[in-house]
Amino acid sequence: MKHLFSAETGCLFLSLEVRKSNVFEAVKESVTTRQAAEYYGVQVGRNGMACCPFHDDRHPSMKVDRRFHCFGCQADGDVIDFTARLFGLSSKEAALKLAEDFSVHYDGKGYDPSRSRPVRRKISEELRYRQAEQKCFRVLCDYLHLLERWEKEYAPQTPEEAWNPLFLEALHKKTCTEYLLDVLLSGSLEERASIVAEHGKEVRKIEKRISEFTASRPAGRHERSRSLSAGAERL
Ligand SMILES: [Zn+2]
Repeated sequence: MKHLFSAETGCLFLSLEVRKSNVFEAVKESVTTRQAAEYYGVQVGRNGMACCPFHDDRHPSMKVDRRFHCFGCQADGDVIDFTARLFGLSSKEAALKLAEDFSVHYDGKGYDPSRSRPVRRKISEELRYRQAEQKCFRVLCDYLHLLERWEKEYAPQTPEEAWNPLFLEALHKKTCTEYLLDVLLSGSLEERASIVAEHGKEVRKIEKRISEFTASRPAGRHERSRSLSAGAERL
């Protein structure tokens, strides 16, 4: 191709071409569609299935891995196609966005896969954090719903009645749980990260508690009251 151009123009043309092909290649090499989908907020199940963002999909019918394919609307392609369509970008804009969001290195000298290793590590750390934060939020949400329920169901009916431990727990924990959820919903990344780090252990305890409660939920109020009170003392 070089001979088709004057030395100057040819050089410019070739270097742009190299740069362009490198960002495409580098991004496809470094970022899977699954990573991009999760990073951009598409929930992907363990089996790699997700609700397709390109058609009205109520049950996950899109498989995401290195590439993606939707069994519903037949959307299909690689990570660049996926990102371009998700954000309404051209392929080049999508590749540049991916390179920036995932810190993918590319340059005129050719793509060097060894340089992308730290990037991969960064991605998986980021993913791990996002998953931990999501879990924290989900567990605290479930817990708040339980507390709200206990506050109503186990409220003493007369001034003489002893306070049910679940009612007491609701009084003690509700405000704090609401506060944590508030920060997770609207706090800065730093504030959210400190909640996830500082309350991780407590959240795991709460999660265990909720699943024990769900598993052993007997029909009668007295039964339930007894088994939950036993749980309440452990917290
Ligand atoms: Zn689809």
